[in-house]
Amino acid sequence: MESVLSTLEITPIPCLRDNYAYLLRCKSSGFTAVVDPSEGSPVLAALDGRLDYILNTHHHWDHTGGNEALLEAYPQAAVFGHASDRGRIPGQTEFLEDGETIEVGLHKARILFVPGHTTGAIAYHFRDDLFTGDTLFIACCGRVFEGTAAMMHASLQRLAALSPQTRVWVGHEYTLANLGFAQAAEPDNKDLVSTLARAAATRKQGLATVPSSIELELKINPFLRAETDTDFARLRSWKDRY
Ligand code: ZN
Ligand code: FE
Repeated sequence: MESVLSTLEITPIPCLRDNYAYLLRCKSSGFTAVVDPSEGSPVLAALDGRLDYILNTHHHWDHTGGNEALLEAYPQAAVFGHASDRGRIPGQTEFLEDGETIEVGLHKARILFVPGHTTGAIAYHFRDDLFTGDTLFIACCGRVFEGTAAMMHASLQRLAALSPQTRVWVGHEYTLANLGFAQAAEPDNKDLVSTLARAAATRKQGLATVPSSIELELKINPFLRAETDTDFARLRSWKDRY
């Protein structure tokens, strides 16, 4: 039963050069999960003697590189990823399909299968929080490495349809560069001007620009706003060369 009195505490952990792992802690039960541990040491340092789940959004090393070090310290932790990532995610024990739910203490997350960046990409959708890995970034999206532009566009449209107040926690701190490209794509977009000023001030203080929200992304993210596969593909190939 999800209690309104229970809080899911979310802490971004900067990893590698510009990755974020996320520490998730259910305040009522102490149940602890980590999303996309890029490397072991910063995550181990952030943990408080308990790790129940490792939640991977996709198989890339900069999202799973810490799995083995964490499993050495917490051998009982379960490792989640998409069913099709079997053999690609180190230590994977749980093989998820679209629409399944998992529980982090009192907090339920629904699995959204969002192929495009990779063919096994998933997002973890908690009531108020969405972990997108490299599918959706602030003001951008990930490169289409394994899927097709049409696949990626459909995946992003699914995320765009979530409740506007959903907080969005992304895999990389690419926000300033992304906003620069977004301004080139949409020079008349006033929301981009204010968002860029806010993000620049945040980064100047050395802070993370996460979380965004679906509501904000619908205003500033050209890739979420692309109406057709063709628009999306054209935008994505422009960004690849930008
Ligand atoms: Zn990736
Ligand atoms: Fe990545």
